[in-house]
Amino acid sequence: MLTELEALDYKKIFYYFSEIAAIPHGSGNVGKLADYLERFAIERNIRYVRDTADNLIFYKNATPGYENEPTLILQGHMDMVCEKEAGSDIDFIKDGLTLKVDGEWLKADRTTLGGDDGIAVAYCLALLDDANAKHPALELVITTEEETGMDGAKALDGALLSGRNLINIDSEEENVVLCGCAGGARVTGLLPVERVIAGGRIVKVTVSGLFGGHSGAEIDKNRTNAVRFLARYLFMLREKVPFLVEELSGGQKDNAIPRDAKATLLFPEDISAEDILSAQALAEAMTEEIRAAEPDATLMFLPEDYVEELPVMHPRSFEKFLFLLLQAPNGIQVNSAEIPGLVESSLNLGICTMTSEGMELHWSLRSSKASYLQFLKEKLIYLIGFLGGDYEVSGEYPAWEYKEESKLREVYVTAYGEMFGKKPEVATIHAGLECGLLGEKIPGLDMISIGPEMKDIHTPAERLHIASAIRIYQLLEKILADKGKL
Ligand SMILES: [Zn+2]
Repeated sequence: MLTELEALDYKKIFYYFSEIAAIPHGSGNVGKLADYLERFAIERNIRYVRDTADNLIFYKNATPGYENEPTLILQGHMDMVCEKEAGSDIDFIKDGLTLKVDGEWLKADRTTLGGDDGIAVAYCLALLDDANAKHPALELVITTEEETGMDGAKALDGALLSGRNLINIDSEEENVVLCGCAGGARVTGLLPVERVIAGGRIVKVTVSGLFGGHSGAEIDKNRTNAVRFLARYLFMLREKVPFLVEELSGGQKDNAIPRDAKATLLFPEDISAEDILSAQALAEAMTEEIRAAEPDATLMFLPEDYVEELPVMHPRSFEKFLFLLLQAPNGIQVNSAEIPGLVESSLNLGICTMTSEGMELHWSLRSSKASYLQFLKEKLIYLIGFLGGDYEVSGEYPAWEYKEESKLREVYVTAYGEMFGKKPEVATIHAGLECGLLGEKIPGLDMISIGPEMKDIHTPAERLHIASAIRIYQLLEKILADKGKL
């Protein structure tokens, strides 16, 4: 453990955070951390379950005097998103992280920190290790594979839990308590592409410099989708001058708004200087149009060499592909009438890529209303099928709907007020949390989601506010120790 961090530690939360950080635990690679957690339980004689998905559940009896209090569930996930800066040579499969204290923040050396959600695991271990803690019967649940589809929570057996109050520790704002989240699904569409051989002048078209961002949290920020922007450019360009298309691609993750995209065009009759100017003028007009929201956007039209033979999309195939890119719904579909400022339903075309079978498109769909999510899914599938394509739906998870009445929320808001002298913000988010799945498995479950202050999660700039991590732990201690509230 870092000496600097040791000096700041509170009841071993940073000690355990350091232990966790030393064990590789990216999504898909959590076996070693699950082993560590299992050993932790065995060495201390703690009752536990490790299921087939490597989820760990620890059971801790109520401390004397708390036997009549209702059982409380604390929950987080053990897997982390592994991202590193270009200069880092870490191997996330076998190397631990290098922690460092940077002013008020805990960071990792040029990598994600895994504060999301290692801090929840550290809290649970610190609590299990604290012989003086006062609390009702506890069920501490550490799930796996949250970041890649919530497979741990999906596999969890609800019958292993008897508590009906659950605090999810997977949020990143100290002054916010989350009480609802969107559900989601992924839709992949595959449009078959027929190819023909043609010759002519190659032109590369590229879109770059867009902000991109998270397809849930940033879908309401007026960000331009690079793939759709490029498709629109080609749609308007062909009114001026005919061309064929070899490929069009962009985006890397279904849940990120694409920041760049590129296309390779072929002009069979070459292209005149006048047409080049007109194509570039169109590019300029379009980037100018989005300048206020996307100041660094560039759209380049770059004539290159001549080729004699290039397998390009048959115009019929391209037509369908372009139609789908332009006509598929994208972005915000419905704003919430119940919670002003919240996006209720949205979708994002995150990836467009060429495979040996055709053009593959990936969308991420979100809605806090199950019925609208179903509609969006079917609408996309209808469109893809209509154009002769194939589709697949995966990664579905349910919404966690906001409840007007929540005793647990009241208890949290009151305790927060007593401790910090102000009220936390009660909010819901347009992104996924495991609470939706857990709520489906455990009837009558009351839930909140909280966490200490973290910034830039899922990026190498991820950092955890040290004092905030201590404050939220102390707040949990207070909630556990207060009797007769739930
Ligand atoms: Zn998380």
